[in-house]
Amino acid sequence: MAVSGVSSSSQRVSSSSSGMPVLRSGARGSSVKTLQTLLRSKGYSVAVDGSFGPKTLAAVKAFQRASGLSVDGVAGPKTWAALRAGAPSPAPAPAANMPTLRSGAKGSAVKTLQTLLRNKGYSVAVDGSFGAKTLAAVKSFQRARGLSVDGSVGPKTWAALGASGVSSSSSSSSSSSGIAATGYRRGQRVSIRIAPVGGGRYLNVRCAQAYKDMLAAARRAGINLSTTSGYRTHAQQQALYKKYGSPRAAKPGYSNHQMGLAVDIGGVGGYNTRAYRWLSANASKFGFANNVPNEYWHFTYVR
Ligand SMILES: [Zn+2]
Repeated sequence: MAVSGVSSSSQRVSSSSSGMPVLRSGARGSSVKTLQTLLRSKGYSVAVDGSFGPKTLAAVKAFQRASGLSVDGVAGPKTWAALRAGAPSPAPAPAANMPTLRSGAKGSAVKTLQTLLRNKGYSVAVDGSFGAKTLAAVKSFQRARGLSVDGSVGPKTWAALGASGVSSSSSSSSSSSGIAATGYRRGQRVSIRIAPVGGGRYLNVRCAQAYKDMLAAARRAGINLSTTSGYRTHAQQQALYKKYGSPRAAKPGYSNHQMGLAVDIGGVGGYNTRAYRWLSANASKFGFANNVPNEYWHFTYVR
């Protein structure tokens, strides 16, 4: 693979070794749509409109920064390769009634279990064999979720893992869970429900558990993260806006923090840290994306 011959000074659209053209701001067409689709799969909120405008440019740059590539806003071979690498595997579609699995089990249901565990940040091989590592991951997951820690994967564990078609009365993401709060979206008041995520911070019930799972997975990787800011009331956002103004603070009513769907993470330390590299490799598994330029600490729930 000769990828080094293409530089940002190459002609506007040249073919790269990945088979995708080099794209820059102003480009249009189906390959831009492919680029936008891949950016979306990485958690960046861009429209798939086939037009490489300012939002796509900002997303490409943010992705390049997060991936340790040179931040030139040009989608060349390295950026294409990074966008394709580690793309989230499509979610498995388990049958409505998953079998109860125990240590020693083998087969496709075990593969589904292992894929779901991986989606939650546990490092197990997807080999279809329920061995010691899978058992340890199941127990760790059950402990983290307050389930009985028996290592046996029954309906409650399947449901907590997010297997589709499995429901459980203990599901913590139902709309009736959490605490009622006032949210704001595009300047409009909306009712939301929030749940504690530790440290006296709250997030929307839609993402609170995923966020706690992400912090637990980071901790298992030896990275200690904390929560600097989660859900904010209108008064809190007004105070921040008064203090910092735009763009450092969003206009009151327009911050994702007011929906409890954005979180500022402490302990990251910058873009060039082990903690940031871990987050950029793993946050999308939990539905989070670092999609505000120059704010390495700010993650938005994009699922
Ligand atoms: Zn923030």
